[in-house]
Amino acid sequence: MSLTLYNTLTRRKEPFTPIDPKNVRMYVCGPTVYDYAHIGNARPVIVFDVLFRLLRHVYGADHVTYVRNITDVDDKINARAAEEGISIRELTERTARQFHEDIAALGILPPTVEPRATEHIDEMKALCEALVAKGHAYVAEGHVLFDVASMPDYGRLSNRSLDEMEAGARVEVAPYKKGPMDFVLWKPSKEGEPGWPSPCGIEGAGRPGWHIECSAMSDRWLWEEVKDKLSNEAKARPHQFDIHGGGIDLTFPHHENEVAQSRCAHGTPVMANVWMHNGFLQVEGEKMSKSLGNFITIHELLKTDKFGGRRWPGEVLRLAMLMTHYRQPIDFTATALEAAEKVLRNWYRLIGDATACEAGDGQSDVQTKLQDDLNTPQAITALHAMADALSNGGDASALARFKSAANLLGLLTMTQSEWLAAWNADAKLDEGEIEARITARLEARKAKNWAESDRIRDELAEMGIQLKDAKDPTTGEFTTTWEVMR
Ligand code: AMP
Ligand code: ZN
Repeated sequence: MSLTLYNTLTRRKEPFTPIDPKNVRMYVCGPTVYDYAHIGNARPVIVFDVLFRLLRHVYGADHVTYVRNITDVDDKINARAAEEGISIRELTERTARQFHEDIAALGILPPTVEPRATEHIDEMKALCEALVAKGHAYVAEGHVLFDVASMPDYGRLSNRSLDEMEAGARVEVAPYKKGPMDFVLWKPSKEGEPGWPSPCGIEGAGRPGWHIECSAMSDRWLWEEVKDKLSNEAKARPHQFDIHGGGIDLTFPHHENEVAQSRCAHGTPVMANVWMHNGFLQVEGEKMSKSLGNFITIHELLKTDKFGGRRWPGEVLRLAMLMTHYRQPIDFTATALEAAEKVLRNWYRLIGDATACEAGDGQSDVQTKLQDDLNTPQAITALHAMADALSNGGDASALARFKSAANLLGLLTMTQSEWLAAWNADAKLDEGEIEARITARLEARKAKNWAESDRIRDELAEMGIQLKDAKDPTTGEFTTTWEVMR
C-alpha cells in the first residue's frame, strides 16, 4: 500500500505519510454561500470526496477527519442580501441548503465536520491577537493587517518572490498599509454590515478577512478538537495537519495567506504537509466562473434542460468529471456527459442488484491507480477491464468486487433498479418522443428500410429503451411496445 500525491508546495509527486495514521487530517476550502454553486465549484467537491473515500479505505473510516467549511461572512454575501432585500442569515441558510441538496445528488459523503465561519469569530480574533503580539501583524485605521515583510519565506507555496509580487501589485495601495502585499485579517464594519466587537484594542465593530477564516477553522477542528487523541509524535507537531485542498485559483493569494497566518501565529514550519489543487473546469477554453457569466449551476444541470436540452443524473456528472485527471483542465461538453451516461447504463445493467463486498478483499487495480495521485482516468480504465471480464460471465463475488471498486470513486453506489428509477426521473424520458421514434421505425419497416429500422432500435437501446415487436396472429398487424431496460 503506497499512496502518492502531488504536492503544490514541493511541486512533485511524493509518498504520502500521515503525521498520525490513526488520525489522518484534511481540510478543503468550501463554498462562499451567496448563490447556487456552478459545476466548476462541483469539481473540488467531487475530487476531494474521492480522496476522502480512498483515505477511509486505506486508513479506516474512523481514522480520517475531513473538514470542509462554509464561508458565510463575505462582502459578496452582504451585497447579494442587500440586492434581494433579505437578511444575510436568510441568504446564507438558503444557499447552504441548496448546496447540500446539489452535492447529495452527486453522491458526496458528508465531511466529518462542516464548520461555518460565523461560528468561529472568537478563534479568528485570537489569531489576530497572536499575530500582532508576535510582530507579524499591525493595526492601522481600524484594520488588522498581516505584515508580509515579517515572514521571510512568504510566497513559497505559490512559488513567487516578494519582489515579483510587489512589482505586479496594483499601483493603488491603501495608504495605511506598510507594504503593498500586506493583507487584511480584520476590517471595520459600517452600520448595516455584519460586525463583531473588534480585537487588538480596535474600537467599534468589524469583521474578518476571508483568509483568516480558514486558518481559524482548520486549527480548531484539525488540532484543538482532536489533539488529545493524537499520537505523541503528532502532539510534538502542534497546529499541523496532513492535507489542504482547493481549486488551483486558491493557491494565491488565499492559500499563501492561510499559510502565512497559521505558521506565524503558531510558530510552526508548515501548516499542512501536502497542498493539493484541482484544475479548472472550462467552457470553450475559459474558466467557468460567475464573474465571466459563462456558468451553469449544478442545480440547472440536474433539474432543468438548460444544458444539452435535458436533465442529467448527478452520477453522470460525477463520472464525466472523473474521466479527467484532477490536475488537468476539463473542457465541459454534453458529449462527455452522454459518454459517461452510456458507461453507467452498461455498468448498472451488469451489476443488477448485487451488493458490494466488504473491504479487505485485496487491493483492486482501481485502488492501485487511485493511490497514484488520484489517477481517476486510469482507475476508470481498470473498471472497464473488470466490466469486460464480467460480461463474459462472472460469479456473485466478482460482481461484488466490481461494485466495491467502483464505490471507491463514489460510483455504482445504487442498485440497477434505483438507478433506473432515478434515471427515469432525471433524464426526462419523453414518452411522446419515444412513440414518435417507434412510428418512424414502423414506417421504415414498411418501406423495407431495415438499416433505418435497426438504427432507430439501437438508438433507443442506447437510451435504455427496449422495443418489443409482436404480430397479431389473426389480423397480422405488426405492433411495437417499449419498456425501460432492466
Ligand atoms: P468559490 O465559492 O468561488 O470560493 O469556489 C469554491 C471552490 O470551487 C474553490 O475551491 C475554487 O477553487 C473552486 N472553483 C471555482 N471555479 C472553478 C472552476 N471553474 N473549475 C474548478 N474549480 C473551481
Ligand atoms: Zn480556505
